[in-house]
Amino acid sequence: MDLGLKGKRALVCASSKGLGRACAISLAREGVNLVMVARGAEALEAAAESIRIESGVTVTAIAADVTTQEGREKVLAACPDPDILVTNAGGPKPGDFREWSRDDWIAAIDANMLTPIELIRATVDTMIARKFGRIVNITSAAVKMPIEILGLSNGARAGLTGFVAGLARQTVAHNVTINNLLPGPFETDRLRQTAAKTAENTGKSIDDVMAARLSGIPAGRYGDPAEFGDACAFLCSAQAGFMTGQNLVLDGGIYPGTL
Ligand code: NAP
Repeated sequence: MDLGLKGKRALVCASSKGLGRACAISLAREGVNLVMVARGAEALEAAAESIRIESGVTVTAIAADVTTQEGREKVLAACPDPDILVTNAGGPKPGDFREWSRDDWIAAIDANMLTPIELIRATVDTMIARKFGRIVNITSAAVKMPIEILGLSNGARAGLTGFVAGLARQTVAHNVTINNLLPGPFETDRLRQTAAKTAENTGKSIDDVMAARLSGIPAGRYGDPAEFGDACAFLCSAQAGFMTGQNLVLDGGIYPGTL
């Protein structure tokens, strides 16, 4: 299926690795020109170069921390009017809420709620003016099924989800959709980091933690980031213009509800 995206511009945040990188790859394969962002310049440039070689699209790499005002200004200066915005940032640290200070909460809310909202604020009106826009927020399956040790993520991402639910119904009349993609366990650095934290807390090995987690996934495997990237590309497609304000869970069947 041709997703109707050839020649569009996408700003893909936190995209040198993992799920953000997979979204960048899938969009590039549809002929979308990219602005990719991550803090570490080396991994970012390597990811950008491999996409340029594979897809032939224009890729601009901006090394910046998207969770800071300064970082966002740098990113938006390079890409003030994207057709597609994929918001993403590292997830908050795991732990016990008794150990978290107000500053920990503010950092989580800044990274996983206010940063996407600020990026949407900066770009949505030009999308509306051009009558095309696709905004995809990478959140977490924890929005539907909270993860005990990720209270900072559960809380901050729920705030973003509530905000998006309201705005997405206002923008869709202008062919600007806003949806959230909710990853379950995908095989990325982040997954291994949370497994390491659980291993540390429980005294088990990381391999045992990974195996125990695997046993709870109906699909019988971890997610492949490429599957996530292709779901993102579909949400950005011309064909997905009637779909807005949705929370699409990709978790290999873990979420047990009917709806
Ligand atoms: P990952 O493999 O660790 O990759 C994170 C990417 O984001 C890297 O490119 C990193 O590069 C970049 N990044 C992190 N913080 C950034 C910042 N402040 N500014 C700019 N770039 C930043 O993580 P992932 O697994 O793809 O996870 C992506 C998101 O999905 C996270 O919020 C995570 O919590 C959530 N999630 C993931 C899973 C999973 O199974 N993988 C499940 C649920 C939710 P630099 O470090 O160089 O900046």
